[in-house]
Amino acid sequence: MGHTLIYLILSCCLRLQEVPILCYHNISNGKDGKEDLLHISDKQLNEQLRYLHEDGYVTITPDELYAYMNGSAPLPSKPVMITFDDSHEAHFTIAIPVLNKYHYRGVFFIMTVCLNKPGWLTDKEIREMSAQGHIIACHTWDHTNLALHPNYHLNEQLIQPKKQLEKITGKTISYFAYPYGVWSEKAIKDLKETDYIAAFQLDKPQYSTDPNYTIRRIMVSGKWSGAELKKAMTNAFTLPY
Ligand SMILES: [Zn+2]
Repeated sequence: MGHTLIYLILSCCLRLQEVPILCYHNISNGKDGKEDLLHISDKQLNEQLRYLHEDGYVTITPDELYAYMNGSAPLPSKPVMITFDDSHEAHFTIAIPVLNKYHYRGVFFIMTVCLNKPGWLTDKEIREMSAQGHIIACHTWDHTNLALHPNYHLNEQLIQPKKQLEKITGKTISYFAYPYGVWSEKAIKDLKETDYIAAFQLDKPQYSTDPNYTIRRIMVSGKWSGAELKKAMTNAFTLPY
């Protein structure tokens, strides 16, 4: 009886734990001065990640999160996932050196339409990021809002980008982020059919029917200090610390 009670309490606590997942977009070297939910400077990105590192946060990968959600592996005591959307070249030139400095692994959601064009990631950069241990994942071909345009071509938006990224990295591409963070039941069905095992949205509630396909993230303001980021993480996610 005692054991049953302990198990019930433990499983209840475990179910409540979420991993804070951060979402960044544009990163600049500070010259354009923009700092908001879509823009951060190199200096501020460094400040935020330095704070998390000093506070004992450890980055986890989508594979590690997936194993945890399916009950096959525990989490480190202070996990965080750091994601970058939209294939900006600054993800390679600015974010990667900052991540590497703290021995952090980033997750990069790539839209393939812009690859190898000025200002955007190249095949070579993506290959190098992946070889360094960072995670490459899919963000459609051209950033179509899948919920708003349900007649999108499955091949164009989900199958070909996956194949292209697999060719570049030599690794299986298993994870997806919805453009604009917007999911739909049809998109979830299509993602399952095209062999994506989990998908990330933004900060809407997780869909209890398909929690693995509606994993929550928060957008990080470039204005936030490290302490303000930590506060936002604590407010947005159910954390045991
Ligand atoms: Zn996007």
